[in-house]
Amino acid sequence: MFSSIRWRMIVPYTIIILGTALGLTLYLSGTVRQARRADLEAHLLDQAHLMAYSAVLCLEDLSADSTALATHVKRWATLSDSRVTVIGMDGVVLGDSEVNPEDMENHLYRPEISQAIRTGTGTAIRFSRTLGSDLMYAAVLVRRDGLPDGEPLGVVRIAVPMHEIELAVGRLSRTIMISGLLLALISIALATYISARTVNPIRQLTDVVERVAGGDLHARLLPTTRDEMARLTHAFNHMADQLNDKVARLAQEQTFLSGVLNTMADGVIITDSDGKILLSNPAALRILAFPGTTAYDLTFAQVTREHQLVELWELCRQTGVEQTGAVETSLRNTFVQVVVTPLNAPASTRFLVMLQDLTHIRQLETIRRDFISNVSHELRTPLASLSLVVETLKDGAIDDPEAARRFLGYIESELSALTQMVEELLELSRIESGRAPLKLKSASITKLIKKSIKRLAPQAEHKQITIETVIPDDAPPVLADSRRIQQVLMNLLHNAIKFTPDGGHVTIRAAVAAPEMLISVSDTGIGIPADELTRIFERFYKTDHARADEGTGLGLAIAKHIVQGHGGRIWAESIEGKGSTFYFTLLLGSEPHEQEAQETDE
Ligand code: ADP
Repeated sequence: MFSSIRWRMIVPYTIIILGTALGLTLYLSGTVRQARRADLEAHLLDQAHLMAYSAVLCLEDLSADSTALATHVKRWATLSDSRVTVIGMDGVVLGDSEVNPEDMENHLYRPEISQAIRTGTGTAIRFSRTLGSDLMYAAVLVRRDGLPDGEPLGVVRIAVPMHEIELAVGRLSRTIMISGLLLALISIALATYISARTVNPIRQLTDVVERVAGGDLHARLLPTTRDEMARLTHAFNHMADQLNDKVARLAQEQTFLSGVLNTMADGVIITDSDGKILLSNPAALRILAFPGTTAYDLTFAQVTREHQLVELWELCRQTGVEQTGAVETSLRNTFVQVVVTPLNAPASTRFLVMLQDLTHIRQLETIRRDFISNVSHELRTPLASLSLVVETLKDGAIDDPEAARRFLGYIESELSALTQMVEELLELSRIESGRAPLKLKSASITKLIKKSIKRLAPQAEHKQITIETVIPDDAPPVLADSRRIQQVLMNLLHNAIKFTPDGGHVTIRAAVAAPEMLISVSDTGIGIPADELTRIFERFYKTDHARADEGTGLGLAIAKHIVQGHGGRIWAESIEGKGSTFYFTLLLGSEPHEQEAQETDE
């Protein structure tokens, strides 16, 4: 409580005022007392001198008239309102205005008497038991004829009580103390008023400062005075405005930066020198397949779980030099390009880790490499046979019309196989590159299936293969590019017929599995070995059974791309020697478009 400004103003002033009053009282009462005593002493001595002069006659002839002295003494005492005593040179009291002299003891050794006998005058202050107060005594030596060198006859002493002086000094002290108290009260009131006026604005400003510190950056105070507080309030408001601006700007920058970080495809991680993660963006967690939503305060090793990455970070920390590396993560089979850079080098306390997921690019590279080797491999055989046939023709077979015709027929079939392969490759690349965008519309799956069956019916008949359909009458439409889905159905149906021995059976089913339609093509053919089931969708892949077959191995790859382009899935199930079933899904559409259905029929 006493640490507040109000009390710091009130307490010292009160102490100063009261202290001054007390000091003044002590000093003045001392001074006044001394002055009054000196005055009284001089006055008493004057009176004693006068009395001494008058007492000369009485003392010169004491025996002549002993009662005269007693009378004089009483008269002088009445006139001077004091006690008067006359003492002989032997110390015997000769007369006293208040007490019978015979009852009084010898006064020779009273200080004022002995002093007067020695020097002519003497004074003393003593407590009088008779009066119960201090008395001032003044004594004067009486000489014969009143002459300065006359024979000493006795001493006249005059005494007055001093309580008058003490009363006066007491009055003075009281007046000073009361004034001091009054002054102290006034100063307390004044200090209270002034401190209230000073402290209130400070309190208000303190409240506002606390609100700003608590996060309310819009808290302001209107100055109510025109003094220093007003300047302080203005300065504070200005400071709060600036702070508000800066915070807003920083927040904006932070939003901008975190927006960039959050949408970046590359991973960014910042760690401290102990490996604790200070910042990480979603891409980093995604690339590292970290299950949590934040990696804050975890260690780099906990988040990456990959010793090669940790080693790169450690190397950067030790050398203080940027480290770059490509890491194939064992856990997640991803290929990551990493750059670890010390921030604020050379005394780096933080490290920036940039992660780039190159898995897809690497896969594409692998696919391209495989593709080129596959294409060259696939082209080599027909080209070699073609050049062999041409060689044979040149060597003379051309002159044998029958052989020449046979060889030409052979050339024709090789060329058509090559043409088909090139066309399928072109188709595949068109689909993959997105140059043949899908025209998705609602279409009737029943119609698409029927049309595919119609097209391949001659081949099925040729092998006495029956084709059955199991499609609900109220099958809802699917969302499809009719031409492409028909291509998928034809590929699957064509394979089913091709890989099913004569007299076999093919079934095409369609069923709703909301929000999709599940379509399947089953056959009673040779089947596919289990370990090859996933590989048959790769380009140029053919199972061992089909090696000699004229197919290109591209049909299922094309089907897979088309189905995936529709947002669906494709897969196969098979039991070797018993038959295979190919499934694919399509999203359900709204009511079929009549025109679309007609187009498909054409
Ligand atoms: P192809 O043009 O050679 O038929 P695909 O991509 O359509 O190429 O098929 C790839 C391979 O998958 C075929 O060579 C064959 O080995 C196997 N396959 C496809 N469909 C069937 C099926 N219904 N029964 C048995 N094997 C099949």
